[in-house]
Amino acid sequence: MSLNISRRSSQIVQSEIRNMSIECDRVNGINLSQGICDLELALPVQQGAQDAIAQGQNHYSRYDGTPELREAIARKMWDYNHIKADPEKNVIVSGGSTGAFYSACLALLNPGDEVILFEPYYGYHVNTLLAVDVVPIYATLKPPNWDFDPGELEQIVTPKTRGIMINTPANPSGKVFSRDELEWLADFSLRHQLFVFTDEIYEYFVYDGRKHISPGTLESIAHQTITISGYSKTFSITGWRIGYAVCHKDWAKMIGYINDLVYVCGPTPLQAGVARGINELSTAYYSELCNEYFQKREKICQVLAQVGLTPNVPQGSYYVLADASQLPGATSKEKSMYLLDRTGVATVGGSAFYASGQGEDQVRVCFAKSNEVLEEACQRLQQL
Ligand code: PMP
Repeated sequence: MSLNISRRSSQIVQSEIRNMSIECDRVNGINLSQGICDLELALPVQQGAQDAIAQGQNHYSRYDGTPELREAIARKMWDYNHIKADPEKNVIVSGGSTGAFYSACLALLNPGDEVILFEPYYGYHVNTLLAVDVVPIYATLKPPNWDFDPGELEQIVTPKTRGIMINTPANPSGKVFSRDELEWLADFSLRHQLFVFTDEIYEYFVYDGRKHISPGTLESIAHQTITISGYSKTFSITGWRIGYAVCHKDWAKMIGYINDLVYVCGPTPLQAGVARGINELSTAYYSELCNEYFQKREKICQVLAQVGLTPNVPQGSYYVLADASQLPGATSKEKSMYLLDRTGVATVGGSAFYASGQGEDQVRVCFAKSNEVLEEACQRLQQL
């Protein structure tokens, strides 16, 4: 025996998003590869955290979150998502939605289980599953509408499959799942007895009159759905690490225990900031946020179209997959490096979002940037 990293670690590679951020820093470029929203912090969110620190709320909270935040989330779940949640039994505050998903996987899945992911996927979903020795199996979303093929799902599902991940609105495709699609997926998940993990971190970022529908509102799968979201994106606080899972008490208790084991609790004063934000910000905050991102989407998509990087205009979230087939390079990585070298704008090669070797003609562009940064990026892209 020699000293070595675990088998599971060797499966997990550094994310391409992080790689491109490093490349971007090297050339002092504009980072449209990573989803960091640098919008200004809403006052109640900031003030809530500052007051909590000043008032001495600097200790562990209950393992599943402060009462104020659990109550605020439960109220928001009813008002916005139309899911009934008891703050004592159904809400677990965690280290971001990432922590909530990790805790849920550890609590509910066994090594060797399979979970269905749609590709293009969000890489953390894959790596989180790998980290708990779960096997991701893939179904493809087909552009331009990112439709899935029910036949493909029926084909890939096996007796070992115990879950499916639905990310709506999705990163990187921007897909917003429709009610019809969710109803089909609900029936499928019921028939195969799958946990439905939903990542709804972009729930407020839906465009062109679309509505966000939480899969957990579908009565038939309410019991088996683990709704995961958080405030990184909605309040532009990616560094605060406040997310949550909402689910039936049968699962919530164990997810909570695992969350205690891994994170102990979410940062207490930051929970206070988020709770105050939820309680005090009016619906106008969320519609203005959405409108602001809609304007950014329009801006970036217009420029991408102009320079021959035809965008697949996203239905939601804040990423665009653009057609990079006109750029030199054999792979999407080479194409995104060419773009970085020519314009100083960092994107992510599309192959980072597929397990099946697709995406080589795509780059992902993140538009969660301040208007000044986005303007500068657009000007640079126009040099192409
Ligand atoms: N889910 C998706 C789909 C994301 O794109 C991201 C951020 N890139 C996250 C989760 C991470 O969320 P959090 O900060 O709450 O962990």
